[in-house]
Amino acid sequence: MIRFEQVSKKFPNGTFAVKSVNLEIKKGEFFVLIGPSGSGKTTTLKMINRLIELSEGWVWINGKKISDYDINELRWNIGYVLQQIALFPHMTIAENIAVVPELKNWDKEKIAARVDELLKMVGLDPSIYRNRKPSELSGGQQQRVGVIRALAADPEILLMDEPFSALDPFSREKLQDDMLEIQRKLKKTIVFVTHDMKEAMKLGDRICLMKEGEIVQVSTPNQFLTNPANDFVREFVGSRKFAINLNELITPAPAGQVLLSDTKTISLSTPLSEVLEKLALFEHISVMEGGKTIGIINRQNALKVMSQYLREGGQSYE
Ligand code: ADP
Ligand code: MG
Repeated sequence: MIRFEQVSKKFPNGTFAVKSVNLEIKKGEFFVLIGPSGSGKTTTLKMINRLIELSEGWVWINGKKISDYDINELRWNIGYVLQQIALFPHMTIAENIAVVPELKNWDKEKIAARVDELLKMVGLDPSIYRNRKPSELSGGQQQRVGVIRALAADPEILLMDEPFSALDPFSREKLQDDMLEIQRKLKKTIVFVTHDMKEAMKLGDRICLMKEGEIVQVSTPNQFLTNPANDFVREFVGSRKFAINLNELITPAPAGQVLLSDTKTISLSTPLSEVLEKLALFEHISVMEGGKTIGIINRQNALKVMSQYLREGGQSYE
């Protein structure tokens, strides 16, 4: 279905982001790319829909080189979901979902029916949500719309780049469950990037672990646990450092949350060690993303979550 053959990416500044990757992703497979920050996951993903051109090698989709596809045809047939919800703020939910079907000139009735069908699939009542604006929806609901928008024109392939990592733990788990349900029903070929091993284990038919632009291991979640290729894999699978995610400490911010002072503010990419230093000083810290407060970390809550991890002795995957 999707085949990488000796694929490398060297950026103009000399960064060698992906090195001789060979991969075969099967039709209908839920394929997870995982690895530390900077290991080349996003670059690998974006080469599939040609948001990044490869430097060397070939990517094939259904036996045809991606460079031989018309670029619009390629993009419209590949859904793409990002971490930062990128719904158009001035458009209704229905209009947001209809973007690609409109580009493909579907007729109005077909589009309307498709919008309702998709909203229902993720538990959003069309009569309530169809005409709302994105700002009237919670973060979890907006991300649901992001997912169904990517599915709107029924693409064969869905690319997802850390789609749930800005969500609170509760919404995140619900979206993961939705994804499993969607996959069971629609049998898309999904390439899903995450840095959360727990998420990878839950969703992936197969997981591909990357390190410094290279593939370390591709196997089923089970084989990752029972047959790790080397110490790096063993550490990645077992380590609490990767299993504990900042999101699990965050309580989502109520609408109109007052901003706290700068010293008490962090972002989702702040290292855990730094977060802990701040928590030692302040009872609450606020988490900012894209200029908005997305949640609060409360000292007591954080301690509770972390003590749970310690009790589990590192067996924090399921
Ligand atoms: P990941 O998604 O696993 O965090 P990326 O694929 O984004 O990793 O990045 C892999 C490497 O390529 C990193 O070292 C990153 O800094 C570098 N990189 C990514 N995009 C660019 C770019 N446009 N120009 C130069 N270097 C880049
Ligand atoms: Mg990335």
